[in-house]
Amino acid sequence: QAKRRGRAGFAFHQGDRDSAGLRELEVLGALRHDLEHQRLRMAAQCKVDRDGREIGYETLVRWTHELLGPVSPAEFIPLAERNGLINRIGEVTINQSLAFASRLQAQGLEFEVAINLSPHQLGDAATLDLLRRACRRHKVPAHRINLEITESAVIDDPQVAADLLMAFRGEGFGVALDDFGIGYSSLAYLRLLPLDKVKIDRSFMTDAVDQLQARALLQGIVDLCHTLGLKVVAEGVETEAQATLLRELQVDEMQGFLFGRPILVDDLLSQIGAG
Ligand code: C2E
Ligand code: MG
Ligand code: MG
Ligand code: MG
Repeated sequence: QAKRRGRAGFAFHQGDRDSAGLRELEVLGALRHDLEHQRLRMAAQCKVDRDGREIGYETLVRWTHELLGPVSPAEFIPLAERNGLINRIGEVTINQSLAFASRLQAQGLEFEVAINLSPHQLGDAATLDLLRRACRRHKVPAHRINLEITESAVIDDPQVAADLLMAFRGEGFGVALDDFGIGYSSLAYLRLLPLDKVKIDRSFMTDAVDQLQARALLQGIVDLCHTLGLKVVAEGVETEAQATLLRELQVDEMQGFLFGRPILVDDLLSQIGAG
């Protein structure tokens, strides 16, 4: 009987793996096709300061395939990383983000625009060049661009990552550590990496309002970052109660559905009269 169970168990996992593999192949093929046909778009989500004033945007890539429907970047970015497509995606996202920044600038909005960099992009010397050229082409100064990197981007070789980030900083770009607090070595990275911002992961927002311990943890992170001279951004702010708490804790910037959902850049620009 044990044997039968074992075999059934194996069959189950195998089947699971097969359908996951199938989905990957499907998504990958569709992504290749749509990248070639320039069907990836950028959305942007606003960031506000403590007084609720808009001070910038984060760009987020969006892809809707005609058969698969919308596919989350959380699914296709890692897939693109593993299959050599991330360079193409990086070109699209960086160029579209810089075009967006220059449209804002033309409206007199001197907002910061944050761009997400995947692990491979961070490790690739060509990324700095790409950013530099895009800034020049769109006449946007580097200091208006903030690069968001995640801990997983740093894990392979933190010292190499630190050196690369130093080059970004030297060029004038800002650097933020994204999704802070959910990895294993977050604290070590604060010391090692040349950062100017930390974005606290949205999982910290969930219980902070009504759980004493969660709140103390959040307070500790904010104070620690400030002591180190880093700005603190809270992501995933969904309720008024969370915003009130974050203001009390002296968080510098907030981002989340409460202030605005990600909106396609073209729609956003026509909303603010730049379309
Ligand atoms: P992230 O950089 O941490 O982006 C924040 C994610 O949280 C976004 O999901 C955003 O839509 C979502 N979000 C924002 N506010 C709220 C909120 O109040 N509540 C909740 N529940 N969610 C909120 P999205 O767009 O699906 O992106 C997922 C991840 O994919 C991003 O996480 C980022 O790591 C990656 N990503 C997105 N765009 C790009 C890109 O252009 N390039 C690269 N390399 N990675 C990207
Ligand atoms: Mg981000
Ligand atoms: Mg984030
Ligand atoms: Mg996140």
